Amino acid sequence: MNVEAYLKAGKIASKVREDARKKYHVGSTLLQVCEDAEAQIREMGAEPAFPVNASLNEIAAHYTAEPNDETPVKEGDVLKIDIGVHVEGYIADTAVTVCYDPKYDQMVKAAEAALAEAVRMAKVGTKASDIGRAIENIISRMGYRPIQNLSGHSLQQYTIHAGKSIPNIWTLGSSFTLQAGEAYAIEPFATTRDGAGVVHEGKVKNIFGITSRKPTKDDDADELLNTIWSRYKSLPFALRWLTDAYDVPRLRRLTDVLIKKKNVHAYPILVEGREKIVVQAEHTLIPADGGSTVITL
Ligand code: MN
Ligand code: MN
Repeated sequence: MNVEAYLKAGKIASKVREDARKKYHVGSTLLQVCEDAEAQIREMGAEPAFPVNASLNEIAAHYTAEPNDETPVKEGDVLKIDIGVHVEGYIADTAVTVCYDPKYDQMVKAAEAALAEAVRMAKVGTKASDIGRAIENIISRMGYRPIQNLSGHSLQQYTIHAGKSIPNIWTLGSSFTLQAGEAYAIEPFATTRDGAGVVHEGKVKNIFGITSRKPTKDDDADELLNTIWSRYKSLPFALRWLTDAYDVPRLRRLTDVLIKKKNVHAYPILVEGREKIVVQAEHTLIPADGGSTVITL
């Protein structure tokens, strides 16, 4: 692994997250929220590892702005801003919840307290299942529910979800231990006591990623596939990132071809099972003996 690249990605991700935390987003559109953060990543000399996620209220994750998205952030909203930065493919993944309804301030604190404890525990040899148990305990003790089917994950170069999951609940059965030389994102999500504590896939899909480069026999679709590959490889992308080269109707039509041919996967938004408010906190760390380097601190 390239520790220098991880540290640079982490420093930028952290700065972008903290600026997003301080900003007053009410009155902004989700397009502005996403594009401002992405522009800042690029100005600082890195690239987004995925489109900035700006997921409102009962949407837990995986919403990014559509081209010309005019959805406003309103008073009373709870907005998760999830930021990925990569330097040479080494990814820092971090998130903040901005809360414009004081009713949910404590729930945001619960997710952050759970993350702080998870980070404190994380070192070479820590069992992922122990982290999950700690996250669940803290969120439950503070009066909320963890989202049980969302989890943290190992990261590899150019791969955001690299195969190992760090649960947000106590789970029975086999687990793994954190190792040196591997990066992990830890991301507690919480909802209210009356929530389902699980998310399901919604209808909206606005984050995409290449899964196969096999030619489609449609020249226009193949050209789009090549453009996407040259820019983003297999990392996730948004249609608004391609509007410099394609008008939106044509882009949507060709993307649909690539989805049907299974060259591109469309990621659905993830919605709380009883449509209750969801909050999130996230850091990326590299374990060491006796502690870990939190690259997004
Ligand atoms: Mn994330
Ligand atoms: Mn993540």
